Parts: sequence; structure tokens; C-alpha cells
Amino acid sequence: MHEYSLIVALMERVEEEAAARGALAVHRVCVRLGELSGVEPDLLDSAFAIVRTGTICGGAALEIERVAARWECSGCRRPLEAGGRLRCAACGAPAALAAGDEILLGQIELEVP
Ligand SMILES: [Zn+2]
Repeated sequence: MHEYSLIVALMERVEEEAAARGALAVHRVCVRLGELSGVEPDLLDSAFAIVRTGTICGGAALEIERVAARWECSGCRRPLEAGGRLRCAACGAPAALAAGDEILLGQIELEVP
């Protein structure tokens, strides 16, 4: 399951961060999830509920921020409308995805003594 291995990798980074700051607990983990990332927020959420058990994230909440897909011209960087022509009207260069395929670890809320 894609979401499961994603969460495992994410948790490793959260644990590293928590250890580096001597945190007692993690309260909140924020993830930025692009709408074209191919990740189901619901599956990510349930994977998190399984993986966090017994870790420093045991009581943490997962917050998923959806990021809409955004296109721009690969030549002149003009923003292009999603669902429109995937080619720039000004210079004819093909559209490039500027946002929407990301899976990023955002803020982590730690309890630090
Ligand atoms: Zn262009």
C-alpha cells in the first residue's frame, strides 16, 4: 500500500526531528498533499493511525492540507488555467505542472521540555 510506506517514511523524519529537539511528544503533524500526488487522504489518515501506535507520535493528530494543481508555461512561466489548453497562448510552449504533485512534510508540533 502506497500510503502506508509513505507514512512510514514520514514518521521517520518526524521522529528524527523530535529526537533532535529532545521532544517528549508530538502533538500535530501537517502534510501538504497535492491533488495529483496519487495519494488518498483517507488512506493516509488510516495508515497514520496504525503506524503512530507506540511511537512518539502516539497521541499526534495528522493534518492534511490539500494543494490544488497549478499549471504554468514551461517557456515564459505564465500561469495557465487548469483544464484549459495545456499549451501557452503567448509563446506556444507546453504547460508544466507548478504545484499539485507534492507530498511534503509541513509543520510539526512538538512538546519540548
Ligand atoms: Zn509561454
